[in-house]
Amino acid sequence: MDFNLTKEQTMIRKMVRDFAEEVIRPRAIEIDTEAKFPLDIFEQMGELGLLGIPFPEEYGGAGGDTLSYAIAVEEIGRVCGSTGLSYAAAVSLGASPIYYFGTEEQKKEFLTPLASGKALGSFGLTEPNAGSDAGGTKTTAVVDGDDFIINGEKCFITNASFAKTLIVTAVTGKNEKGKNIISAIIVPTDAKGVTITSNYDKMGVRGSDTAEIVLDNVRVPKTNLLGDEKKGFSQFLYTLDGGRISIAALGLGIAQASLEKSLQYAKERKQFGKSISDFQAIQFKLADIAMEVELARNMVYKSAWLKDNDKPFTKESAYAKLFATETAFRAANQAIQIHGGYGYMREYEVERYLRDAKLLEIGEGTSEIQRLVIARQLGC
Ligand SMILES: Cc1cc2nc3c(=O)[nH]c(=O)nc-3n(C[C@H](O)[C@H](O)[C@H](O)COP(=O)(O)OP(=O)(O)OC[C@H]3O[C@@H](n4cnc5c(N)ncnc54)[C@H](O)[C@@H]3O)c2cc1C
Repeated sequence: MDFNLTKEQTMIRKMVRDFAEEVIRPRAIEIDTEAKFPLDIFEQMGELGLLGIPFPEEYGGAGGDTLSYAIAVEEIGRVCGSTGLSYAAAVSLGASPIYYFGTEEQKKEFLTPLASGKALGSFGLTEPNAGSDAGGTKTTAVVDGDDFIINGEKCFITNASFAKTLIVTAVTGKNEKGKNIISAIIVPTDAKGVTITSNYDKMGVRGSDTAEIVLDNVRVPKTNLLGDEKKGFSQFLYTLDGGRISIAALGLGIAQASLEKSLQYAKERKQFGKSISDFQAIQFKLADIAMEVELARNMVYKSAWLKDNDKPFTKESAYAKLFATETAFRAANQAIQIHGGYGYMREYEVERYLRDAKLLEIGEGTSEIQRLVIARQLGC
């Protein structure tokens, strides 16, 4: 077993950390308080090749692996949850399905601008009445000549307001058992009948764009169907398995940040004539956070490694997502406690970590759904 990162993975960590420290960290408080999507930061990330890390060079990517990408999400999440979430959604949800399931033409036309960082992508699965139960999708895509006509509504969709393409799930027919067939279709955001609004006032990840999408008689060519029409459901389950690694990596980044801030503060803060880090009560909190961060990192990296080595990773990515995101929440909560009253103040940032971490227990499958996935993998 080799726990060492490769030279390339180590270089990517350094490059992303430097960028995150220099460009994103100074803006993180403002991104949260103003709830403003940092488009200029994404442009710079695109130029650096970050949006294409796990995609081949022939499609504008950097030819890296899932582990390198997970490390990049971790490093960005360590300084800004909002930027981390939009980054993870752009790569894992907006672009990856096209790489996994797209035809050569679709990859050239739709993946290349996303992987080369010239545009952002978005993935619309959730609907007002179909969240955890994605099978309850109501959006429809009906064939009309060489086109699909799509009607429906999507909610809580990350990056949609700034995206060039949406991948939407829609019912395209019924199978032999009379059950809905759900397919994935690529929809350019400038297609007639697409309305995207972003009016949510969120608790956390406030600088990440979250939008509602209305599709009103949207006409797209049938060639925009992604992958196998009949396997749309299993395709998006695979997409979510991969996406979970990135949300887990984001949780890991927030947990790591909580540890670093707490340790630094505990050494500096003096009460009763000594640093609060001299109190065993504080030391035990720090020890627990550090141990959980280490566990979370091992789980995230292992699930990425499994994916990179073409081994099954459904169970491990659910473990990683569940554990790392709940670790992020616990670590951020303890970080506030260690900071006392200061931790409750925005400028100390740890309260933002808690608000951002909460989303990670909900998006891309709630903690309850992760437990369900794991139980199914166990054969329940
Ligand atoms: C900021 C943000 C960004 C998002 N980005 C995207 C995106 O880019 N694309 C996208 O498609 N979606 C996105 N989502 C939607 C997200 O994936 C859903 O909110 C999530 O899957 C939960 O669905 P729901 O909100 O409808 O909750 P529900 O499914 O209604 O769940 C409510 C509660 O019931 C529990 N529950 C439901 N079913 C079961 C069950 N079978 N067993 C046990 N408990 C159950 C849930 O765990 C939860 O606690 C985003 C959401 C947010 C808040």
